[in-house]
Amino acid sequence: MGAQGAGKGTQAERIAPMFHLSHLSTGELFRSAVAAETALGAIAKGFLDRGELVPDDITIELVDERLAFLAALRASGDGLRGALFDGFPRTDAQAHGLDVALAVRDERVSKVVEISVPRDRLVSRLSGRLVCPNDGLTYHLVFNPPKAAYVCDRCGTTLTQRADDTPEAIEKRLSIYFAQTEPLLEYYRSRGLLVVVDGDAEIDVVTESIARVLEDAGLTR
Ligand code: AMP
Repeated sequence: MGAQGAGKGTQAERIAPMFHLSHLSTGELFRSAVAAETALGAIAKGFLDRGELVPDDITIELVDERLAFLAALRASGDGLRGALFDGFPRTDAQAHGLDVALAVRDERVSKVVEISVPRDRLVSRLSGRLVCPNDGLTYHLVFNPPKAAYVCDRCGTTLTQRADDTPEAIEKRLSIYFAQTEPLLEYYRSRGLLVVVDGDAEIDVVTESIARVLEDAGLTR
């Protein structure tokens, strides 16, 4: 959990392989659907462009389908230990939808990590953000630059800015986060699941803090 620009995507890319988890980013799934021009993409596109949340029923169904796919992968013995959610849940309805989708599979949320960054730092982080349109990897002009300017380290594709990283969409997305998503933290805090990590630090330092939280929760690298 964390506001836009807190570093959820960057950290999830590092933590998921470290702990043999599948990185499940709803934002990335929606962006891929838009790029591939699927039926889901056609529905999601307007919401993404405007910086608004995709409706809960569509988002929960997408996650449920993904969980079914992951369950099949695990059943085939691929060594996956679970999922790391990035950008989900974002509303009360999604949090409850997730509980139900996990309960029917005899699974549960084992830990919730909030990456906390002061609001005034978020906008500068978002406005310098770059993304690889091919594999979804995220970079930052200043805080996390690619090795060669504007080129993805992994696949060599030219990096772009996200369509929703415009000043208007950034403001709208942050308002939605503080109105609808931040209150969810209380739901997880009251269940003893929430740990807050300081996200206003070097990327490696934040990764290590999160890794330690997961180890304390019983996960192994
Ligand atoms: P993100 O990459 O997490 O910033 O997500 C990008 C965009 O995808 C958001 O601004 C929403 O339009 C959509 N989106 C991602 N995750 C969700 C979610 N859990 N619920 C609703 N919309 C979402």
